[in-house]
Amino acid sequence: MITDIHPPTVNFLAGPYIDRRTEAREQLHWEDAARNDLTTRFILAVGLTQLVISQDTPCIAFVGAEHPLVQSTPSEHWLLLGWFQGSRCVLVQLETIHSIDTSTALITTAEARFQELRPLVALLNEAEAGLLAYARAISYWQQRHRYCGLCGSKTSIQRAGHVMHCSSVECETVFFPRIDPAIIVLVTNGECALLGRQRTWTTGRYSTVAGFVEPGESLEDAVAREVLEETHVAVTAVCYHSSQPWPFPSSLMLGFMATARKDSIARSSSELEDVRWFTRTEISNGVPILPPKTSISFRLIEAWFNTDAQIALSDLPHIRR
Ligand SMILES: [Zn+2]
Repeated sequence: MITDIHPPTVNFLAGPYIDRRTEAREQLHWEDAARNDLTTRFILAVGLTQLVISQDTPCIAFVGAEHPLVQSTPSEHWLLLGWFQGSRCVLVQLETIHSIDTSTALITTAEARFQELRPLVALLNEAEAGLLAYARAISYWQQRHRYCGLCGSKTSIQRAGHVMHCSSVECETVFFPRIDPAIIVLVTNGECALLGRQRTWTTGRYSTVAGFVEPGESLEDAVAREVLEETHVAVTAVCYHSSQPWPFPSSLMLGFMATARKDSIARSSSELEDVRWFTRTEISNGVPILPPKTSISFRLIEAWFNTDAQIALSDLPHIRR
């Protein structure tokens, strides 16, 4: 019997991987401080791609202030991320693909390439995955707020990249990084867990219910609505579990556990081609294929499974490998 029922609350892409030191964003000429600090580590990005060293275990291709691509990029394209493993860490957003083509020789190692994070995220170590996910999320936001949504004027970057400000003196609207809240929920009825699958997923893969929170809706309301819409099951209780930033492009996944009556019948919907109640025994036997271990969906399933199982979910042979 597994007796530890306390859920792991630090999910992948979350946790203290960076010291944000938000007060440092207020410092005038913070760029000079970064430039003059020999320990500052710079991350280079183009669009939503980031410079990564490709190998079996990929890693960030950090560069120093002396790097030509750092020196040639105006500081309004720099963004202070915080202090990573004790070093100041700055994101440098190169403007065009052209700058990569002309500077291949400036990249420090042959294996370093600008890559999209999504396929790499689970291969990076946890701290670097969190750092690149954070950097990607704020790049995505900046790239979509170059012009004011109210008056159409250009915006300028303030507070070390964390605020965008409309340049029109009649407007002066301030924009902060946008995060889209989404709920993700494991519904159980004792021995069974409610999981569904989308038509495009690998055969046999099932996961928890998820969806965006709508304006005028509490998180609990969103949980109840999404579960009902996607599975036709009414939840009877909702309890918060943990959360996970998910910058693809800008979500914060808010994880919940919910319960439903034992006689609740699940039916598929337009969003899910199949929904089913799975027993612990079925999950122990590898039916269904569960979401990746780095996902909050897996963590929710794990938290429920481990409360009354002979072996922890992560120790099952088909999960461990
Ligand atoms: Zn404006």
